[in-house]
Amino acid sequence: MSFDRDRLHLAIQKSGRLADQSRQLLKDAGLKLQQGGRNELAARAENFPLDLMLVRDDDIPTFVADGVCELGIVGQNVLDEYALGRPELRIEQVAKLGFGRCSLKIAAPDSLGRFELAMLQGQRIATSYPRLLGRFLADNRIAAEVVTMRGAVELAPRLGIAGFVCDLVSTGATLDANGLMPVADVFDSEAVLIRTPRPLDAAHAEKAAALLTRIDGVIATAESKYIVLNAPESALPAIVQILPGAEAPTVIPLIGREGQVAVQAVCQESVFWETLERLKAAGASAILVMPIEKMML
Ligand code: ATP
Ligand code: ZN
Repeated sequence: MSFDRDRLHLAIQKSGRLADQSRQLLKDAGLKLQQGGRNELAARAENFPLDLMLVRDDDIPTFVADGVCELGIVGQNVLDEYALGRPELRIEQVAKLGFGRCSLKIAAPDSLGRFELAMLQGQRIATSYPRLLGRFLADNRIAAEVVTMRGAVELAPRLGIAGFVCDLVSTGATLDANGLMPVADVFDSEAVLIRTPRPLDAAHAEKAAALLTRIDGVIATAESKYIVLNAPESALPAIVQILPGAEAPTVIPLIGREGQVAVQAVCQESVFWETLERLKAAGASAILVMPIEKMML
């Protein structure tokens, strides 16, 4: 596939923790993506002027910063680590995407026992995120030696390379398996959509805006539900209070049932069983909660 300047280019991770959900987000936004073989570096969207560039996540900020790709999907940890090294650049973070959640944590060997930040003074800490860790240490006025490793950071204490590590954690299972325990939070991360700091020409800007509108819709839809219920008119103020994140519900009279109305609302927050119980207690009946398939705000 040739590089077509007229199309938009979006860099995503080729394989790894963000790869599947990045593609799923684009599919949910209505894009039909070509499969692309194992050695393909790009995949074309068949029904939108967009090509995906399939790369290592560490390269995504560079592609976007240099304008090779107008857009990218990457972890905030990778983005900020890169951005701290190029402070003159302003890569714009367009949207948080709600997946790839993890945090960069300092961890110590289980044998350490009690921990306080001051114990890091003068210690060696192994990490793949030297700039994020460096900022954290500076903010906390800790002078420690940062040992940069590309991978296998959790082995550093056993190898005698460093007394502490600073690594990404989601469940904590990897730390646990290596006899380490988290002791301090350095940075919370999730996948984000980023945009090049280079100005876009009108045609590219228009395509990017159209894609962003769809992605915003997907993000909004994921949390939103459509609620329909019946209620006595007198209970309306209480019921509207309970509906989570609903603006201006629609109220429709029920023919043949004096004083009863149907209420319809889009709820922009999660709807829990507890919410339904509270609605029922306030007088609602025949409550339906429905997923929303598409939404354009
Ligand atoms: P690549 O081959 O693209 O360089 P990688 O091995 O550097 O991949 P992955 O392990 O696939 O990267 O992680 C990609 C991103 O997923 C991380 O930068 C982070 O934002 C996110 N992530 C979510 N949970 C975790 C976790 N438990 N450990 C590491 N990264 C996580
Ligand atoms: Zn990587």
